[in-house]
Amino acid sequence: MKLHQARHWVFDMDGTLTLAVHDFAAIKRALEIPQEHDILHHLAALPEAVAAAKHAWLLEHERELALNARPAPGAIELVRALRARDCRLGILTRNAHELALVTLQAIGLDDCFASGDILGRDEAPPKPDPGGLLHLAERWQVAPGELVMVGDFRFDLECARAAGAHSVLVNLAENPWPELADHFAEDCSALLRVL
Ligand SMILES: [Mg+2]
Repeated sequence: MKLHQARHWVFDMDGTLTLAVHDFAAIKRALEIPQEHDILHHLAALPEAVAAAKHAWLLEHERELALNARPAPGAIELVRALRARDCRLGILTRNAHELALVTLQAIGLDDCFASGDILGRDEAPPKPDPGGLLHLAERWQVAPGELVMVGDFRFDLECARAAGAHSVLVNLAENPWPELADHFAEDCSALLRVL
């Protein structure tokens, strides 16, 4: 697929549309999660009451970050350009849906995404599971191969690969996962320039 022909775009949120601010190592320390564990998987395996308390802490911590979110370079222009071309746009994030809304509002992109096209950790299995992308493909009635997933982390690329979608890695100086990324752009500005 030629990227400039793509009509269905799914974005990771934190670190992709926003400047990366999550300190995952600090979050794991605060929640007593071993550094080598995945946060969401770790919480899912805990007894319900413990998990609920830690989820509540995580939500409050991330709410602060969401309220202060800043757009990544070129993110606003890229999303608005795709909207102007009548592309379908979605968000697939490991953050919570309500915080995705807060974040998008903080950076001024809340009018660009339908609420039902924003999948958080309660609407879809966390990436790298492909479930969220497959859900959007079905919702938009296109084959998964029509989707482009834009993200800043390995999970975004693995999620796209597992779904049969295309991937673009952004916001890194170079591509640390060349075997996983179909395309690489230094940031959203660079991506927009090739569309
Ligand atoms: Mg990210």
